[in-house]
Amino acid sequence: MRLPCVALLLLVPVAAAQSNTERMANDTYSRSHDYDLVHQRIELKNFDWDSTSFDGRVTTTLVALRPGLDSVILDAGKGLAVTRIFDVTVTVGARHALPQQALPLRFSAHGDTLVVYPARALAFHDTLRFTVEYHARVDNGRGLTFIRPDGLEHRPQQIWSQGEDENNHFWFPTYDYPNDKATWELVATVPAEYTVVSNGRLVADTKAPSGTHTVTWRQDQPTSTYLASLIVAPLVKLSDRWHTTPVDYYVYRADSARARRLFGVTPDMIDVYSRLTGLPYPWPKYAQTTVADFFGGMENVSATTLVDWLPDDRAYLDRPWYQWILIPHELAHQWFGDYVTLENWANMWLNEGFAEFLPGQYWRTKLGPHAEDDYYLDEYRQYREIDQRRRMPLAALGSNNVYPKGALVLRMLLRYLGPERFWASIHLYLTRHAFGNATSDDLRQAVLDATGENLAWFWEQWMYGAGHPHFAVTAAYDSTTRKLTLAVKQTQSDSGKADTTKGTVKFQTPATFRMPVTVRVGTSQGDVVRHAELEAREQTIDIVGLSGPPTMVVFDDGNTILKELTFDQPTSWLATELRRDPDLWNRGWAIEQLAKRTTDTAAAAALAWAATSADYFLTRAAAAEALAAFPATAAAPLAAALRDTAAQVRRAAITALGQLGGARSADLARATLRGDSSYEVRAAALAALVHADSTARDSAVAWGLATASYQDVIREAAYRIVAQTGDSAAIPQVEALMGTGRYPAHVLAVLAARGSPHAFDVLTAHLDDARAAVRRWAVEAFQFTLPRQLGVPRLQAIQSTLKYADTKKEVGAALEQLKKPASDDE
Ligand SMILES: [Zn+2]
Repeated sequence: MRLPCVALLLLVPVAAAQSNTERMANDTYSRSHDYDLVHQRIELKNFDWDSTSFDGRVTTTLVALRPGLDSVILDAGKGLAVTRIFDVTVTVGARHALPQQALPLRFSAHGDTLVVYPARALAFHDTLRFTVEYHARVDNGRGLTFIRPDGLEHRPQQIWSQGEDENNHFWFPTYDYPNDKATWELVATVPAEYTVVSNGRLVADTKAPSGTHTVTWRQDQPTSTYLASLIVAPLVKLSDRWHTTPVDYYVYRADSARARRLFGVTPDMIDVYSRLTGLPYPWPKYAQTTVADFFGGMENVSATTLVDWLPDDRAYLDRPWYQWILIPHELAHQWFGDYVTLENWANMWLNEGFAEFLPGQYWRTKLGPHAEDDYYLDEYRQYREIDQRRRMPLAALGSNNVYPKGALVLRMLLRYLGPERFWASIHLYLTRHAFGNATSDDLRQAVLDATGENLAWFWEQWMYGAGHPHFAVTAAYDSTTRKLTLAVKQTQSDSGKADTTKGTVKFQTPATFRMPVTVRVGTSQGDVVRHAELEAREQTIDIVGLSGPPTMVVFDDGNTILKELTFDQPTSWLATELRRDPDLWNRGWAIEQLAKRTTDTAAAAALAWAATSADYFLTRAAAAEALAAFPATAAAPLAAALRDTAAQVRRAAITALGQLGGARSADLARATLRGDSSYEVRAAALAALVHADSTARDSAVAWGLATASYQDVIREAAYRIVAQTGDSAAIPQVEALMGTGRYPAHVLAVLAARGSPHAFDVLTAHLDDARAAVRRWAVEAFQFTLPRQLGVPRLQAIQSTLKYADTKKEVGAALEQLKKPASDDE
């Protein structure tokens, strides 16, 4: 997701001094429009990769939403040079008027808008149908990306589109805002060797004698135009099925074998989402298509676009992000985003929060509750990191936390409501807004109507308010009355600044979060469980009638609240919780507390037990990582953890051993480097070896740079060592890898910054590399890694002598940016 553009913000009537809740509830951010876009037929041909251009012809059907509508304003990028527009409304029976029968219409272009003047003003609910013919010259990467092979492997010539948030109007004139849904047909004529993938169902694929074919896709159910997609690439189609619905995977031929294993989970995921939501997959097919240089994935309706990094067999040992998150995330959008779409961009979390939430539910269904905890724990870490940089509400224009906080708040809502009430609410939300748009408050209303419970307070604090509670808890046990008293303080502070870029709204962190909480107290006679309502900045919770002193106190049993927790406890309580608590967040919290007690043998013993014996690998890995701080006792359990069946545990163990250092650790790292089956573990062993034995650096780096791995994780570990230690002996090997990705250029820039004139010269020479991608990466390294005082004079000196026009232009742009004073962006 990117922030909405400035032009859009100017369209928004900004009321002063409203709270975020008022702005969201009053739909402040929705765009007004005076027609209803109904259908578009988008015909494209003559694609030219050299000039990034094509010819377009788009026939639009719309209905006036006010009487006397005498001009129709479409979003249309200024690169779309319109040759003519004609009215085809009057033609009956035929889809298009013949040009000689058609009535030409006046039009004018202003920046990125196109104004069409109907022959006579339209009455309320009048239909207008007109065709726009144009020649498009695309600013490459804006709406459409043209990719040329550039001499790199695994990167065939291709074109892909990216609409979200408002970029589709750079390749066809449309209403480019999510709050008006339409249907469309996409008709593309391309050379015979290219496949065309788009939305909806395939209607026709017609060969022409000229060596081209014309492919027609039709999206019959209305959705938002930012979800329209076009891919033109040499691809093979692998066919799968969910019941009778086609599920297709379009990949490069070379990736066919990898694609089956990677995408083969899709029908099962469709099945689980259909059952959970009570809404069977709503589109006529589901296609997943891989393309080059994509940032991740995009949920184009029924035709998701994905990056072309397909994991190989060995990469599955490291649980690749692609299958764990990316595939189920984009699939979830087919319900949340595509079927029900945000009403405006300020409700982005309704799209991204649900898409980030659902994979955790899928993995729970397949792998059990530990996998669910595991999934959301990662979201928690991401959220905390973002929240520390800048605290914003989940539901706000430009919110920075829509993915992880969205997932975590929905998980919390599920825990609060319970599965029956939660999924009934979600079902109502989806069916009520089917093929429509929704706001955050529409979701609250669906919960109210499905369960009878008005969660305005929940929305106020978790959706419209910022932050999360920080609980500081202290425990006191009275042995005469056998009563445990918990003093609970909420210590979160409201440090939000007024948002100066978007008016005067100031995001508030609630001083008091209201939530139910469960406390579990372990005793020698069994657990006592007590429910309480958190509702004050400071309060106490009494737990009476205990059979004896607590052996463990779990505040927020089941981890139902998104929070931070400070609770000083005896080591024995923490050790007991670590053994007994099924919740992974709670265990992780106990490990963090124990990790600080580096002189406490009981803490070391608890961690050693967890590193080797806990029932889920994430706990074992976290405990192994923590053991690095216990040098006296860690070696044996870490050596044992190095034999774990889970790669994540072995990776944590070898990293911790590297930190411990010593000859034994170095030997283990050497053996792991050569012998482990996992790429990630080998990469970690490389770093551990150099940590434990600095004399091994050169040979370890040489081995690392020569070793291919999925996503180049092993090379990246070697690059990091080269960069951190300023190892200029590695320059020839790094240079030889310039064509494999963007990292080598940055490594050369770091070496140059650390005083290697040779690295600087090598990097500079690649500004004239025959491969366009390598030249681009070299420019990036100048721009983002090299210090300005080095980069600017060198670029100025060589700019006029550069061989390639595109690089000259990029260097000019880089210089312009580098010479500006540093901006104080957040
Ligand atoms: Zn998404």
